[in-house]
Amino acid sequence: MTGVHSWCRRIPSIAYRNASILNQFSLSSRLLSGTALKYSSSGKEKKLFTPGPLSVSLTVRQAALRDLGSRDIEFISTVKFLRSKLLEIAEVSKKYYTAVPVQGSGTFAVEAVFHTAVPKSYGKVLVLENGAYGKRMGKICEVLKIPYHMEGFAEDSKVTVERVEQILRNDPSFSMVAIVHCETSSGVINPVVEVGQSIKKIKPDCVYFVDAMSSFGAVPLDLESGNIDFLVSSVNKCLQGIPGFSYAIAKIEQLLQCKGNSRSLSLDLHDQYDGLEKTGQFRFTPPTHCMLAFCQAIKEFEEEGGVVGRSKRYRENRRILQEGMNKLGFEEFLSPDHDGYIITSYKFPKDPNFDFKTFYSKLNEKDLVIYPGKVLNADCFRIGTIGQLFPEDFHKLLACIEDVCKDMNIKLPVT
Ligand SMILES: *Cc1c(COP(=O)(O)O)cnc(C)c1O
Repeated sequence: MTGVHSWCRRIPSIAYRNASILNQFSLSSRLLSGTALKYSSSGKEKKLFTPGPLSVSLTVRQAALRDLGSRDIEFISTVKFLRSKLLEIAEVSKKYYTAVPVQGSGTFAVEAVFHTAVPKSYGKVLVLENGAYGKRMGKICEVLKIPYHMEGFAEDSKVTVERVEQILRNDPSFSMVAIVHCETSSGVINPVVEVGQSIKKIKPDCVYFVDAMSSFGAVPLDLESGNIDFLVSSVNKCLQGIPGFSYAIAKIEQLLQCKGNSRSLSLDLHDQYDGLEKTGQFRFTPPTHCMLAFCQAIKEFEEEGGVVGRSKRYRENRRILQEGMNKLGFEEFLSPDHDGYIITSYKFPKDPNFDFKTFYSKLNEKDLVIYPGKVLNADCFRIGTIGQLFPEDFHKLLACIEDVCKDMNIKLPVT
């Protein structure tokens, strides 16, 4: 373990040596011309105001510039180190919880939990949904032919404990309840601890699954008091690693009961856990470069002050964005006093000259990437406040939004 620690500290010097390699890279991509450019990037740095992939630091990217064999002692201890760090960040006891990494994007971990934690013979899932990511959970159940009920809540409001209690009292056959912590389609933060406490009260043997993809590491969440059995997130959200794997934080006692449940070989969390515990290795090719980068990402996360420090920066990002967009007349999809600070949905202005595609492209030309909306009942676009973004990036974004509006002959403040 200490070996990895000291290795992590050595990264900056490795990164420094590799900086010249990087320069050569961008030089050669600049030298590419004509048709070749169609196949390669322009080499320009973009700021991603998106829900993923999101901006990461140069030092995190540089930490990936090293090959490492999957059986290398250093790699095995890196995996062990990262798994234990994830538990530390989740503030759960190693005695009761374990961290299981899964190759792939966030959805792979969501799917892995359904595969693993829903028994083939009697499983039935209650999906609490107030947006696209909740709906995706329902879609996964559909595809896996898992019996489920999807309970829909309005996209601009939180899941309510009362309704959950009512459903569980009326139908005792649910073996799992699934919910999204920060519904990234709108930015709503659901009361997952309160929901978990009522599940325990009404149906203690019910498995509780939380998709904390876009909140883990930046929105405090007490897994133990929320009775959370499975929580999933991905490296390329608030912990700011490069995309490549996701992970589940699972209650060991629950996970051990899941042997043989999975309808999938690669997405079997129980077997993934078993393999990692027994050999320290992944069952299939691990995302080695991504794990090295994640090691550096965690170092930077800790230097920033962990969950407290990161949430402080994201809140400040959100405050500046909110104030500036307000001045420009943009209206939020959620009531402006909502407590989320991960991502903000804005309604399209009514000005006839507003066209999202043009608005997006003009910002993109300035290397600022925003995101289309994902709510069903309103035309919106989204601006994320997570990732390697700082207050100055938001001042710049706001100034550019103002310029783009003027450029498009949109009257300011917009209506
Ligand atoms: C990003 C995200 C996911 C996973 O998306 P991927 O594209 O598979 O990484 C799942 N749920 C939520 C709430 C998210 O924000």
